[in-house]
Amino acid sequence: MGANEPRKRVAVIGTGMAGLVTAYILRSDAQGRYDVEVFEKQDKLSLDSASYNLSAQDSAGKQAERLDLPMRTFAAGYYEGLKRMYDYLGIPYGSLRFIYSLSNMPATATQQASPYYMHASNNHQIPPLRPDGLSWAGWLIEVCYLAICYYWFKACCFFVPPKTVESCGAEETLRQYVERIMLPSYYVKHYFLPVFASVATCSHDALMDFPALDLVDYGRRTFRKNHYTVLGGVQHVEKKLSENLTCRLGTEVTAVENIGTKVQISWTDTRDGKRSERLFDHVVLAVTPDVVGSIFQPLRSAMAAVPTTTVESVVHRDFSKILDSSRSLWKQVNLKPGDSAPHPLHMCSNATATETIHEHPSSALITTYPITPIDAEKVLYTATFTRVLRSSTSRQIVNQIFSQHRSGEEKSQLWRNGDGNVWLVGGWCWDGMVLLEGCLASATRVANALDVEVPWMKGSFL
Ligand SMILES: Cc1cc2nc3c(=O)[nH]c(=O)nc-3n(C[C@H](O)[C@H](O)[C@H](O)COP(=O)(O)OP(=O)(O)OC[C@H]3O[C@@H](n4cnc5c(N)ncnc54)[C@H](O)[C@@H]3O)c2cc1C
Repeated sequence: MGANEPRKRVAVIGTGMAGLVTAYILRSDAQGRYDVEVFEKQDKLSLDSASYNLSAQDSAGKQAERLDLPMRTFAAGYYEGLKRMYDYLGIPYGSLRFIYSLSNMPATATQQASPYYMHASNNHQIPPLRPDGLSWAGWLIEVCYLAICYYWFKACCFFVPPKTVESCGAEETLRQYVERIMLPSYYVKHYFLPVFASVATCSHDALMDFPALDLVDYGRRTFRKNHYTVLGGVQHVEKKLSENLTCRLGTEVTAVENIGTKVQISWTDTRDGKRSERLFDHVVLAVTPDVVGSIFQPLRSAMAAVPTTTVESVVHRDFSKILDSSRSLWKQVNLKPGDSAPHPLHMCSNATATETIHEHPSSALITTYPITPIDAEKVLYTATFTRVLRSSTSRQIVNQIFSQHRSGEEKSQLWRNGDGNVWLVGGWCWDGMVLLEGCLASATRVANALDVEVPWMKGSFL
């Protein structure tokens, strides 16, 4: 763009991680070529909007705290873009001392779950803890069996590549892959599914339908890597990314259409119902695929094939379901002076799903994907999220959308990213698990296409 050319007007729809990162990168263009305006249907920015302020009263007299919902952990190895951005922005993050307890849902509602396995993550307590009621011999056999299965799966992650459409003409699901590598069904049911279903926050069946490649890639890249969370909450990330941002809150975008060489956005003001429209040079959709399908006609049918589900996170003080596992666990934790309090994560499964109860040091509980009722009187707050899932079909669709147009190729039926200056970003807009790193990867893709240098990638040859 020449010195006298007018600045390009860019609209970003959605203010989750993907929308805010894309807007931040384009606004930091060294040549100042882009005027960025952000649209958000909520009356506040979305990245931190579901987090909860635990008052001193809620936290049983302890200090008031900000609880991130969702918790949004990340790991070295898988989240290179996110980590680089946090380092660049000076966002403090740390490695929490998680302790996992795995248990089965008791047969009756009055019984409590008792854990069959307890493990301290981030390598802060080795060997695993022995649950109450398990003999030393039984525990040793279980730990050895588990170690063999675990390292077998990890070895497969490195040496047995999943089949993909690209390599074999057909996509291998996780279900097919664990059968092929003969991962024992006892291990799959009691260890593999509870842990991975709580990462993906979905049912066991939905997880088994994921492309095997997603989990294998995640398993390989996070092997022996620490997991982190942002200290003080993602409110700090939101604040940094949105400094001096031009933002229209309370505006629900209802349609995105190409008009000549421009892109028109139509929206409704959620406070007074007033409808408006405006033309932009580029529009970035930073929303979930169900929303993309409803506001952008060219992707209506493609987006219907990308599975989504609804997930709840509940902040509460109903300790009735975890008292036994909690006591058994805390009894064995050796806290040295100066050690930060561990964060127990109680994963309790039935035949189809796993709920995760995070025992926060503030003494509140956060249940994600609840499958047993929580005493309504003890609920402090509930947040509901749209969770984007993966399937073999959706992987093909997403990969096609983000593939390059080849020269000489006939115009394909399917819309591709950037066609008509409309762009897609989000946790689901890459070939991998639907996590925060997808937001960074897809925002970087738009930056590259618009010839803008990503500030935290300067000097990088990745
Ligand atoms: C329970 C749960 C736990 C998770 N845990 C982790 C984790 O530990 N680590 C990790 O890396 N990832 C985790 N994730 C995934 C991660 O949070 C998401 O991938 C990521 O937040 C997606 O961000 P996004 O910007 O793509 O979309 P979103 O955060 O969904 O943002 C979309 C925005 O668009 C707005 N919007 C929607 N429609 C319109 C409209 N018509 N007009 C204007 N605005 C609109 C919405 O209000 C929202 O603000 C978790 C997800 C869930 C649900």
